[in-house]
Amino acid sequence: MIDKTLKQLSQALAAGEISSVELARLYLDRIARLDPRINAYITVDPEKTLAQARAADARRAEGQAGPLTGIPLAQKDIFCAEGWPTTCGSRMLGNFVSPYDAAVIERCNAAGAVILGKTNMDEFAMGSSNETSHFGPVRNPWDTGRVPGGSSGGSAAAVAAGLAPAATGTDTGGSIRQPAAMCNLTGLKPTYGVVSRYGMIAYASSLDQGGPLARSAEDCALLLNVMAGFDARDSTSLDRPAEDYARDLEKPLAGLRIGLPREFFGDGCDAGVMRCVEDALAEYRKLGAETVEVGLPNMKLAVPAYYVIAPAEASSNLSRYDGVRYGYRAPAYADLNDMYARTRAQGFGDEVKRRILIGTYVLSHGYYDAYYLQAQRIRRLIAEDFAAAFEQCDVIMGPTSPSTAFRLGEKASDPVQMYLSDIYTIAVNLAGLPGMAVPAGFADGLPVGLQLIGGYFSEARLLNAAHRYQQATDWHLRRPAGLD
Ligand code: GLN
Repeated sequence: MIDKTLKQLSQALAAGEISSVELARLYLDRIARLDPRINAYITVDPEKTLAQARAADARRAEGQAGPLTGIPLAQKDIFCAEGWPTTCGSRMLGNFVSPYDAAVIERCNAAGAVILGKTNMDEFAMGSSNETSHFGPVRNPWDTGRVPGGSSGGSAAAVAAGLAPAATGTDTGGSIRQPAAMCNLTGLKPTYGVVSRYGMIAYASSLDQGGPLARSAEDCALLLNVMAGFDARDSTSLDRPAEDYARDLEKPLAGLRIGLPREFFGDGCDAGVMRCVEDALAEYRKLGAETVEVGLPNMKLAVPAYYVIAPAEASSNLSRYDGVRYGYRAPAYADLNDMYARTRAQGFGDEVKRRILIGTYVLSHGYYDAYYLQAQRIRRLIAEDFAAAFEQCDVIMGPTSPSTAFRLGEKASDPVQMYLSDIYTIAVNLAGLPGMAVPAGFADGLPVGLQLIGGYFSEARLLNAAHRYQQATDWHLRRPAGLD
């Protein structure tokens, strides 16, 4: 069962080969047995999971099942889920049990999906290695001495280790695509505004976007069909007609124009990663696509601009954690100000504090024009670069991450090195575009992800390009050894 795609699981449930309760038990048993080695989950609650699975079986018996009814999903611990601890990887929310469901959870529940547990993540989604979590690092199922990527590292490791058939993630600067690449998964960050941010704990609101992490493009399409949709409670949610993201999966790729940005193919990318990317492009040419060189001249400014804008927004979003309303409160303090200071000093980890300091600085009087406003101008230039490139091509391709999964601790004490892990993904968030990571081979036994970037609302086309590639290759079917 653990090798089945979402579609195959759905068929097995429909045919009565397995019940939702049995399927949930199978995964819960694997989690109990194997997750101590991976640490992909922060919370599992078998009683809650099995209650939902029983309800899904009852719904199926009434003939009311949809494509995801009865399917267990791992939910990133950034999504508020009623009655579940929702920690966002932080001590600050270590005792927080959500009184309501995020839009994504609501939509998954309405589809009859079952919550298998809440997955580990970098604290408040700040990180590229899942080492900043208050609940300990996640280990990469391909090599447990290595990071799974971040911040959705728990979700990625859970799916890669067969501890969930698929999972949700969020991507502010690469947090779906980078862990997908490092764990041999398919991940999709949708166009900004396609998936509601309601109840998704805010990091950098103008960049945050939820999306699926799964084992194939087809599975991503099925999950996105449930996650996406207009929501009046998120002011940046887009009111567009509902789409079937799986509608174009089978379209032939003949004539597809693939743009290769010069800036993605220069220095800075490991040779083993680049070899896989080149091989993938050769495969696309065999499938009938053509490649053209394009330019994204402001690419080099993406990381610096991001590390002004994201911390600025984070410093504002995280001001709500004050020990008064909910979450952690320092046990001992002198007066109100001291309570705030101690609560935040004890409740936040180092990386979060670093972002709050940077964000507060770049927004302060005298520095706002020099940093924040400049970064916003660069953001516009980057979006214009992409618009110009998409006049010459349909899809942009390149590496997702400049390296394969690195060793635990390797970059943890060097923030700049860590920030550079997202060099190929961050510009996509600044522009609000959709992007995907797709398994494209291995370098020294570690997975490599090809990145696909499309114009606004081109999710169906990206999924199509990924699906046709996955029909011609079997990289995405490979699983790490030793986890049976
Ligand atoms: N690594 C980036 C950061 O730390 C992106 C994280 C994300 O996408 N949530 O900000």
